[in-house]
Amino acid sequence: MALESRLSSHYCDLHVHIGRTSEGQAVKISGSRDLTFEGIAKEAAERKGIELIGIIDSHSPGVLRDIRALLDSGEMNEAEGGGIAYRGTTILLGAEIEIREPGRKECHVLAFMPDLAAMENFSGWMAKHMRNINLSSQRLYAPARELQDEIYGRGGILIPAHIFTPHKGLYGCAAERLAELFDLERIAAVELGLSADSEMAGYISELDGYTFLTNSDAHSLGKIGREYNVIEMAQPSFSELRLALERREGRRVSANFGLNPRLGKYHRTYCAGCGSIIDEAFATSERCPYCGGQKLVQGVFDRILAIADRDRPSIPAHRPAYHYQVPLEFIPGLGKRKLEALLEAFGTEMRILHTASQAELAVVAGTELAGQIVLARSGTLELSSGGGGTYGKVLKPKGAATSCTEQ
Ligand SMILES: [Zn+2]
Ligand SMILES: [Zn+2]
Repeated sequence: MALESRLSSHYCDLHVHIGRTSEGQAVKISGSRDLTFEGIAKEAAERKGIELIGIIDSHSPGVLRDIRALLDSGEMNEAEGGGIAYRGTTILLGAEIEIREPGRKECHVLAFMPDLAAMENFSGWMAKHMRNINLSSQRLYAPARELQDEIYGRGGILIPAHIFTPHKGLYGCAAERLAELFDLERIAAVELGLSADSEMAGYISELDGYTFLTNSDAHSLGKIGREYNVIEMAQPSFSELRLALERREGRRVSANFGLNPRLGKYHRTYCAGCGSIIDEAFATSERCPYCGGQKLVQGVFDRILAIADRDRPSIPAHRPAYHYQVPLEFIPGLGKRKLEALLEAFGTEMRILHTASQAELAVVAGTELAGQIVLARSGTLELSSGGGGTYGKVLKPKGAATSCTEQ
C-alpha cells in the first residue's frame, strides 16, 4: 500500500489558552473559567470536532499537574508520536512566550514539545527566566536564539504567533524580517493571525518556504475553531504535525480556514483620536482624514504594504487554498438554542460546517438560517471592515448590522 494512502484529513487548531487550572488558579487572567485542560479536550473532541488541538499554556506548573492527574486516572493517555490522547482528539503541549530583543518591541511565539516530560523540563528552564511561570504569554528574559536552542534541544518546534498583528506580532511591531530575531532553519511554520490571509502574506518573499497556520487564539471555549487548518497526516500527533509543517512524506497542511481579514480586529488603520477606521483610499496619509489627528494605529494590511519587498503578492505552488469562513457564532440569528439543536443533529461544529447539506440544515434550523450557514461556509456573508481592536461586522441581509463580540 502506498504511504500516502494511509493519510487522512484532520481538523487542527493549535492556539488555545487556559483560563484556570482545575484547582481554580488563574493562568490566562482574561481567559474564561471553564477553559481548563480537561474542558478544552472535551470541547474539541465532543462539540467542535477538532482532532489536533494545541494548548499553549501547558507550561504552567498547575496545568502540568492537571495533565499528570488526567494520565494517572486513565482519562487520557500519551499519544503515540507525541501529545495527549483524549477520545479521537490529540492535545499538543505548547507554550506562548513573549520575547523582547534589545531596542525592539515585544512579540509572541509558540513553542510545542513532543511529550509531557519534555514540557515539564522546558517549563523548568523557563521558570528561571520568567517572573511568573504560572501565567500565560509571559516575557522571557533570554535572547530569542537561546530560546530556539532550548526548544529544538528538547525536540520541540517554534512557530511565531499572529505574526502581523500590531499588538505583539513579529512583523506587526518587532521586526521587518524574521532573521532580525531568529535562525530561519529553526522556525517550523508561521501563524497568520486573525487579520491576515495567505495572499496578504505573499507580499513578503522570505515567507515563501514556510507553511502557514490559521489558529483561533481562543480565550473561551466558544472561540475554539474560529480559525483552523486541515492537515493530511497518518494520525494526529506531534511527530506527524512536524512532518506536515515540513511538507514531507505526503504530510501537509491542505487547507487554511480563517476569518476574512476584513473581519479581523486590526485589519485597517484607525485613529486613536476620534476612533474612525481610515478607508483604503486614505490609509497612506499621516493624519486622520476625519479629525486631523496624528495618532494613527497602523492596521495589518497597511503594515504589510509598508514592509513588503514585492509590488504584488506571490503565492508559491505548495501553498494550500485559504478559505474564508465566518464562525457559526458570528451568524445573525444563530443563538445558543439553535446551535445546540444543530449539534444534537450533526454531532460537531466541523460536521455542521463541512458535512451537512443545506436541506439537512434547514430541517433543524429553518430555511433562512440554513442559507446563512451555507453563505458563512463560503465566506460570502457580507462584511464591513474591522480596525482598532474592533471586529468587522456581519451585515444582515436587510442591512441591519450585528456586532461580532470580542474574545
Ligand atoms: Zn499572543
Ligand atoms: Zn494567544
